[in-house]
Amino acid sequence: MLTKIFEEKDIQKLETYINKGERFVIITHISPDGDAIGSSLGLYHYLSVIGKDSVNVVVPNDFPAFLKWMPGTGDVVVYERHKEYAERLIQEADVIFCLDFNELKRIGKLAPFLEAADGRKVLIDHHPDIAEFCRLTFSCPEMSSTSEMVFRLLCAIKSFSDINKETAECIYAGMMTDTGSFTFNSNNPDIYTIITELVKKGIDKDLIYRNVYQVHSLSRMRLTGYALYRKLKTYPKQKTALITLTLEELNRFHYTTGDTEGLVNLPLSIEGIQFAAFIREDTDFIKISFRSLGDFPCNRFSSTYFHGGGHKNAAGGEFYGSLADAVAAFETALKEMNPRVDRKMVRP
Ligand code: 5GP
Ligand code: MN
Repeated sequence: MLTKIFEEKDIQKLETYINKGERFVIITHISPDGDAIGSSLGLYHYLSVIGKDSVNVVVPNDFPAFLKWMPGTGDVVVYERHKEYAERLIQEADVIFCLDFNELKRIGKLAPFLEAADGRKVLIDHHPDIAEFCRLTFSCPEMSSTSEMVFRLLCAIKSFSDINKETAECIYAGMMTDTGSFTFNSNNPDIYTIITELVKKGIDKDLIYRNVYQVHSLSRMRLTGYALYRKLKTYPKQKTALITLTLEELNRFHYTTGDTEGLVNLPLSIEGIQFAAFIREDTDFIKISFRSLGDFPCNRFSSTYFHGGGHKNAAGGEFYGSLADAVAAFETALKEMNPRVDRKMVRP
């Protein structure tokens, strides 16, 4: 039995929207990760199972190949490739689910179309600092993942029996990726009750792990080695580590979307490192990822200095300028907001 976390009146509204709705769109954030795709496709399969004919997942841009084993990925509408079609789907939908993002900015160029749409909007998200842009909002920052929230919501609307193997696989993938394979944000016993139920639905959790994490190309593996050997810098006084990669370096290792996923986590395995950043040059901006252990708030660091946000221990942001300027801005920021001052480290 899972702890009750949603208000009964919200659950009733959700049921009504689903029962009455005919054309559904599910939108998730830019550069979708495992939780974004897992929660969206989990909900997509559920809506299809209960007989909804028009259900579409719309994402702002493409997602990594290691997520494309998930059932239903071939049906995902990528806005960058099918702009007019995606715009029409959003405009004509009577229910629009917004999954795994807390503010309109996170869906990039889809934002004005979502804002202008007349359909009933439902937000399901686990990020803090949620913006009110939906008619119905389910916000649970204490949850491991949006995928976990989707599972709980389906149970709350008494649809557990309509969760099939495909839904279960997608939900498990989302929960697994947003908790680093259940190594952080994963102490709530309910998580393991949910996993038990998903396994009973027929998922092969070992295979899901392999499909996501053990499908590296040789060049991705070498890029990781290069980044750790040549491009990792530590700031012991700030208990911090930084990895930077230029476009030229990425190209040298035949970079494709997702190849640097997880790289930012690696320096946290170094004893004494409590805050890690990864600064990557992109074609028109600089993308930055932050991870921390303990109480150092990556999201506050990112929103203060890099127009970003996210969770306490995992956040992202961006910088407009050269990579060298981004590094300089990062070093200045480190002096102002020093991770060393955070004494509540999880390790002694
Ligand atoms: P990642 O470093 O994997 O791109 O992102 C880590 C977390 O931060 C995710 O929860 C993601 O949703 C959030 N995030 C990443 N980039 C941004 C950003 O530019 N703005 C905001 N608000 N959140 C971000
Ligand atoms: Mn998430």
